[in-house]
Amino acid sequence: MFNKILIANRGEVAVRIIRACRELGIRTVAVFSKADRESLHVRLADQAICVGDSASQESYLNIPAIISAAEITDVEAIHPGYGFLAENSHFAEVCQSCQITFIGPRPEAIRLMGDKAEALKLMKKNGIPTVPGSDGIIKDSDEALKVARRVKYPVIVKAAGGGGGKGMRTAHNDGHLVSAFMTAQAEAEKAFSNPAVYIEKYIEEPRHVEVQILADNYGATVHLGERDCTIQRNHQKLIEEAPSPILGGKLRRRIGEVALKCARLAHYNNAGTIEFLVDKDRNFYFMEMNTRIQVEHPVTELVTGIDIVKEQIRIASGERLRFRQENIRFHGWAIECRINAEDPDKGFTPSPGYIKTYRPPGGPRVRLDTHIYPNYLVPPFYDSMIAKLIVHGNDRQEAINIMKRALDEFEIGPVKTTIPLHQKIFRNPAFLRGQVSTHFIETFFSNGNKI
Ligand code: ADP
Repeated sequence: MFNKILIANRGEVAVRIIRACRELGIRTVAVFSKADRESLHVRLADQAICVGDSASQESYLNIPAIISAAEITDVEAIHPGYGFLAENSHFAEVCQSCQITFIGPRPEAIRLMGDKAEALKLMKKNGIPTVPGSDGIIKDSDEALKVARRVKYPVIVKAAGGGGGKGMRTAHNDGHLVSAFMTAQAEAEKAFSNPAVYIEKYIEEPRHVEVQILADNYGATVHLGERDCTIQRNHQKLIEEAPSPILGGKLRRRIGEVALKCARLAHYNNAGTIEFLVDKDRNFYFMEMNTRIQVEHPVTELVTGIDIVKEQIRIASGERLRFRQENIRFHGWAIECRINAEDPDKGFTPSPGYIKTYRPPGGPRVRLDTHIYPNYLVPPFYDSMIAKLIVHGNDRQEAINIMKRALDEFEIGPVKTTIPLHQKIFRNPAFLRGQVSTHFIETFFSNGNKI
């Protein structure tokens, strides 16, 4: 096992990883930008090093500065968290060449899955169900038109190097498609320095269901069941739950088996997530694999009792998986609400600033993963998620009841947050019945719901 780990991240996930390290008896090094001097991860780590200016490019994405920090502090491994450098295969390679263990999969798997069009090709070739679409990258608008007419409108143009819902455009006819193709390309170039896009048939009213994978360095692979992340805004997840309300025993087993097959095809090691879209007829299609810890991992932890971050560290240090598929048991129902510093009534514009009122929820079966505290200044430079509220009940109804009361206890001000939006969603009949699609939030607002 490692003696010392550097955490190349900030915010709640840096705090989450420090906690796992503490429990494993591993010393920690935090890195921080000038804007994050007062951040909780800096206070909780054994050592902390400033790696640059406020902008992510200068600090959390600054590979030479992070590697220097790792070398100065003599760490054996780096945990990248999610976002920033977590899915950067070059960073994983640099770590390797500096004899620092990257806590994640091998660089080859990151690179393969990072090219979503290539990953789809591999899956399709091996009989994994995928959404009908182009066979790889689309070169020009003529080819785009040909594919769209073949799979039939509506279609979705997606960035091959994409993530976080960026570089995606839907089109309902030829006219739309050409502009969707060009804007998706431009957005992808800007966001990911890679203009490559591909096309899929647009699945109407889908659900997003994903499966958590753990694989050691010796080929043992298990899944930890599914998460349902259908409640999204602009393709960004807002509420996640485990298990999924729409899977029955047979479909659950099947999706788990398919996810395991996907991970094996990628020769995957460490923690990863296979994302699927599920259509109205309960057909499921491989969408992509995320080669890192996910924001929503706690719901899986609560229903399985497995600490995924600790498992990532154990696997990276060369340990074998300590359980087989048949040892993994599922208990009850977990739900997570993402609390973002945004104003839902003003188009979800970011709401940075000082947190003056901070009254966190507590009590039985409530978990709060956050880096905020009273008088914390939410900086304007990074992702607006400031907390994750996660609850665990014996069944879905109990989890909903716990979440409602936890949301009612939770007070943050004067920065605006998504708490009032969640309170409303948890009173919405369609949500309570579990009958939703990825369009839920859109419909919710167009039905005149105000917070
Ligand atoms: P990202 O990597 O940017 O998160 P994904 O491929 O995971 O992109 O897609 C994000 C979300 O976009 C999905 O959860 C789903 O809501 C929507 N989406 C993606 N592909 C399709 C599709 N073919 N049909 C309908 N919705 C889609």
